[in-house]
Amino acid sequence: MERRASPPGRRGHSSGRAGRTGTPSFNATAHTKAAKVFDRTSILMNLYSRANEQDPMTNKSRPKVVIVGAGFGGLTAARRIARLPVQVTVVDRKNHHTFQPLLYQVATAGLSPGEIAAPIRWILRSHSNVEVLLEEVVDFNLEQKKVITKEQVLEYDFLIIASGATHAYFGHDEWEPLAPGLKTIEDALEIRRRVLLAFELAERQNEPQNDHQNKTAGGQTGLPLQFAVIGGGPTGVELAGTLAEIAHHAMNHEFRNIDPRQTRILLIEGGPRVLAAYSEELSRKAEDQLRRLGVEVRTSHMVTRIEPGAVWVGDEKIAAPVILWAAGVAASPLGRKLGVPIDRAGRVLVQPDLSIPGHPKVFVIGDLAALNDENGKMLPGVAPVAIQQGDWVADTIARDLENQPRRNFRYHDKGSLATIGRAAAVAQFGKFELSGYLAWLAWLFIHILFLIGFRNRLIVMIQWAWSYLTYERGARLITGSDELLGWPQPQGNGGATGVSPVHPGADARLSASTSDAAAVTVTPPPH
Ligand SMILES: Cc1cc2nc3c(=O)[nH]c(=O)nc-3n(C[C@H](O)[C@H](O)[C@H](O)COP(=O)(O)OP(=O)(O)OC[C@H]3O[C@@H](n4cnc5c(N)ncnc54)[C@H](O)[C@@H]3O)c2cc1C
Repeated sequence: MERRASPPGRRGHSSGRAGRTGTPSFNATAHTKAAKVFDRTSILMNLYSRANEQDPMTNKSRPKVVIVGAGFGGLTAARRIARLPVQVTVVDRKNHHTFQPLLYQVATAGLSPGEIAAPIRWILRSHSNVEVLLEEVVDFNLEQKKVITKEQVLEYDFLIIASGATHAYFGHDEWEPLAPGLKTIEDALEIRRRVLLAFELAERQNEPQNDHQNKTAGGQTGLPLQFAVIGGGPTGVELAGTLAEIAHHAMNHEFRNIDPRQTRILLIEGGPRVLAAYSEELSRKAEDQLRRLGVEVRTSHMVTRIEPGAVWVGDEKIAAPVILWAAGVAASPLGRKLGVPIDRAGRVLVQPDLSIPGHPKVFVIGDLAALNDENGKMLPGVAPVAIQQGDWVADTIARDLENQPRRNFRYHDKGSLATIGRAAAVAQFGKFELSGYLAWLAWLFIHILFLIGFRNRLIVMIQWAWSYLTYERGARLITGSDELLGWPQPQGNGGATGVSPVHPGADARLSASTSDAAAVTVTPPPH
């Protein structure tokens, strides 16, 4: 393993820390002595780790497998490959694996982050041939079989890249701070902060001593508080449905100056229906369930502009202090670093065995991979695809080690489920369809089953049972800043609705597409 010098001031690996200057109590001689001791230690450590990399039976050094990303795909691969006579290094820029399907619960204060995430190191603790590194991968040198992180260079014999997907704002990155998407724990906490803060600010603005004109954001005398969710795929639908539950039930009787039940929740979708990946019948049922929960659904409506505190749908400007983005995802930028063909969304066009063209020992899996099924349909960006591909690559590596022929990947679609809110969901298992309470129970059961860690499963089950009975949402904490971007200013300071001026250049047309992270039919920019 080749170490790279850490940039000055970075969290230090060996060379960075030893090379740092300017510490007043650390003179030159001490520095040299320390460096020598350090060098000896690292040589010993190197020898130790080399010894560990030897196969005890053959005394040959074991093949090195590097896995980038410990999401659904990477983690599945790591657990299976750990059973082979190889040395595995799992690199992730986070120290935890996130169970993304439950992120919306953190964003809407139903669960705490620790209940849907687990440390990667802990998950892989029982595999002594697996090393976990908290590092961000920035590049690859495929000719020399090297992975380049911000801190070091890792050598590999087999490489698996499973770095997932990220938000896509269709060329309007300036919208990101105005309308956050939901992909990480940090995103979920930011959404939670904005949602809960909006209620608090509305309550404050509507205090009796404030003059009548200021009451623009909520309450009996002002405009209702409005939330806009852009994108009617699974993530947009579950966010809108759960926001409605919070506003219309969870906070009842807690405020004195506003009535949270007056809150408007808008779901804006550019296509003709929500949950477009499901049958038309299920889409219609999902829309009905959303309406029953109090969500205003606008399909075939294009978002044309976003500015602080407002979203434009065509020529209509809708004031919304909280705007959430669930309209598009793009593949991790690491795909572009491989120098092999990618699709318009940045996904790597993999071979049928999941390797990349010209590099049979480099595999790309999960949301970063683009592969058609046997009917020529692109595999969706969902957890089961990533999990099955992680499994498949492990099997392929085992076959390579035994000089067995490789097999082409085949996805077994066991069905899909989307939750909408309390006791509301849709499910499609082949030709068999389900909606409402039963679909919701199936969704609940499957998601609890797949959560990592017995403790997490138990806690989430108890939390859900409790909030089902009481409507309570136990993680209603506002952390971080107490300012809300685009919060309407008192009249006289900011125009008719008090919303900040139009964002320059934010005028291109955007389809609030049905595809979001869970459907992950990534929508390319509309040009
Ligand atoms: C809000 C939301 C809800 C969803 N709901 C569902 C659902 O209900 N059902 C379903 O099947 N699917 C759902 N999905 C989709 C599902 O989560 C993804 O398809 C799945 O996570 C893809 O797995 P992956 O291994 O490809 O990537 P991920 O699970 O995203 O893992 C990628 C990993 O790579 C790491 N990483 C990224 N870049 C780097 C880098 N440069 N260096 C080091 N590490 C890096 C990340 O930290 C992460 O740990 C949802 C997704 C989201 C965002």
